[in-house]
Amino acid sequence: MNDYEYKQLRQRAIDCNMVEVCGRLGIELGPRGRWRECRCPNPQHEDRDPSFKVNVNTNRFKCFSCGVRGNNIDLVQMVHGCSYSEAISFILGNSVSYVPYSKPLPEKSQKNDVDIQWLRGLVSAREYYRCLSPWAQEFLKERRISPNLIDRLGIVSIDRPVATQRQKLTSSKGKLYTPMFPAPSLLFPYRDENGIVINVQARLHTRKEGQQRFHFPVGSHTSLFNPRVTLTLPDGADLWLCEGVTDALALMTSGRPTLAIASATSLTREASDFIAAQATRLHLHIYPDNDSPGEALYQKLLALCPNIRRHTLPDGIKDFGQAWAQGIELS
Ligand SMILES: [Zn+2]
Repeated sequence: MNDYEYKQLRQRAIDCNMVEVCGRLGIELGPRGRWRECRCPNPQHEDRDPSFKVNVNTNRFKCFSCGVRGNNIDLVQMVHGCSYSEAISFILGNSVSYVPYSKPLPEKSQKNDVDIQWLRGLVSAREYYRCLSPWAQEFLKERRISPNLIDRLGIVSIDRPVATQRQKLTSSKGKLYTPMFPAPSLLFPYRDENGIVINVQARLHTRKEGQQRFHFPVGSHTSLFNPRVTLTLPDGADLWLCEGVTDALALMTSGRPTLAIASATSLTREASDFIAAQATRLHLHIYPDNDSPGEALYQKLLALCPNIRRHTLPDGIKDFGQAWAQGIELS
């Protein structure tokens, strides 16, 4: 697609009827008139009154309380926390196939709009000041996660949403921005095999309805947590696989060398190849979660590594982390 075609799609997205776009976003607008109103859908604004208004003549929205305003694309970006192209794609429907975001991103080269230097600065500064709020300490303690491990991995917490300077500048001009991470969250640095931070994932501690638990910065994704563990293991050693960082923390605290998969549904080709390569020299183990996504991940890994050894959790225990938190002895 050339620039001209892209501009045309962009204009079509802007020209779509905003009332209809609101409907598809689940935003219920008040009765007819020039201004249609409702409570503000900005995730950063807890609006008690209907301050959010759509002007049906200009096809633009404005919140008279928090000040957000814009066109259809701004609206979808605000509500979904997605990229510009994703917003256009959402508005025009799934038939639009040009959108680049659907391609899996390469593991090491982050997309340009994720400021990796800024992310490194964020986690290293918070690590330096040992920013781990009481709720975060309590959460990790309840799960019996080793304090040394938390230190070593550089896990920190944030109590307020954080945004880059560039994002803040855009917001002071009255434009929308999506913070890098919602809060309160734990921040997990993802490192490559050399220990360099290549991404950061937030685990939202308290969620509003419909909010996801785990967040990478918009436009980025990293499949594997702790790949460098494989460099420390001699041939024939045991390596544990699991889904998600919280289970990985429990496995690692228990003394099991662990490689975690950020999410089973978005395993990249590169990450799959990496896991398959480990299976040729290490003994792979897994405690699949006691649910259907857990079983699905196990089946996926079994296809990659036919020798992976399956271990079973006791009935009523949903994942390894829960068993570890309750002090249940596992083989
Ligand atoms: Zn608002």
